[in-house]
Amino acid sequence: MTIALYPGSFDPLTYGHLDIAQRAAALFDEVVIAVYATPDKKRVLFTTEERMGLVEEAVKDLANVRVLSYSGLTVEAARDIKAQVIIRGLRMVSDFEREFEMALMNKKLAPDIELVTLMSSLEHQFLSSSLLKEVVKLGGDPNSFVPPHVGVALMKKLRR
Ligand code: ADP
Repeated sequence: MTIALYPGSFDPLTYGHLDIAQRAAALFDEVVIAVYATPDKKRVLFTTEERMGLVEEAVKDLANVRVLSYSGLTVEAARDIKAQVIIRGLRMVSDFEREFEMALMNKKLAPDIELVTLMSSLEHQFLSSSLLKEVVKLGGDPNSFVPPHVGVALMKKLRR
């Protein structure tokens, strides 16, 4: 049985994240989406519980996907759930350097865990949670980028 951990901030989940989760669910027996609870330097818009709730609602129909939160090292979170694989999504060139650096560090820390990166689908290549938050703050409509319940949550947070 192959278990894959899909870690990230998910602040909030977008269709880009969901696409990677769906594709991973077709490849592995179990996919565990791990919401990073303590992004030190990164300012998050949604609390850990809110981010988890938004992810849970989005994947509720995927039988082999579950959601948890974690802090500390990603490889430790993977070990805790006996995952053999860590999943990451890769967009254009922008993600490559950082992902490659993290992958090499994780490989040093946990040689037994493999990293699998799935290329972002064409329509999600330029979609990031951070850009989306800027756009919504300035009056843009989030609904082509996120599931409806995430759109509602974004509007509530950013358009008071
Ligand atoms: P992190 O802070 O760990 O980068 P994110 O929530 O930004 O957390 O991203 C989590 C994972 O999802 C990363 O592997 C990222 O590359 C991937 N991802 C984010 N947006 C997209 C997208 N539009 N298409 C494919 N993968 C994506």
